[in-house]
Amino acid sequence: MLLNKDIIVDGHPTLRLKASDVELPLSTETLNILRSMMEYIENSQDDLLAEKYGFRPSVGLAAPQINKSLKMFCMKTLDENFDILHQYTVVNPKIISYSEVLTYLPGGEGCLSVPQETTGLVKRHRKIKARVYLVNLKTGETKEIILRLSGYPAIVFQHEYDHLMGILFIDKIDKLLPNIEPIHFNYDEYDEQEKL
Ligand code: ZN
Repeated sequence: MLLNKDIIVDGHPTLRLKASDVELPLSTETLNILRSMMEYIENSQDDLLAEKYGFRPSVGLAAPQINKSLKMFCMKTLDENFDILHQYTVVNPKIISYSEVLTYLPGGEGCLSVPQETTGLVKRHRKIKARVYLVNLKTGETKEIILRLSGYPAIVFQHEYDHLMGILFIDKIDKLLPNIEPIHFNYDEYDEQEKL
């Protein structure tokens, strides 16, 4: 299983590379990497395991963060209404359209690869449409689909997508975004410290 030591942090050159396309069909090795990435996210969301291994709660992990410069990431999060689970393992994603309307996370973003506390807000598109290969982690099969996301899951997707381009959220931070509506979270359990 992946541990914190497997996550590379800002300053490591791999985080700044443009990741390579993933070959399809998936090799067993690549599939196992993806399984370990999703397992890491799930473990980090489990209070007991997070405490035992010192995991920071996370909702997304991109392959470059474990020093694999490949276009693939995993995400697992509820939307801002605590309503629908958005759990995806995606390979070779391409965002094909963005809403003009922008938004941001009111508490600012965080990242497993940026250990220092960073304050600042990141402009994101409220809605996105992406062409992705969704991976079935049980079978390794991939299916090309158009994924439409809005609100918090769209922010998570854009954060992970940036990792594949060699971009970190700290490249994009603003102190204030007075003319943009932030995401409104409709549940109390939202942890502003969740890492992407
Ligand atoms: Zn990140």
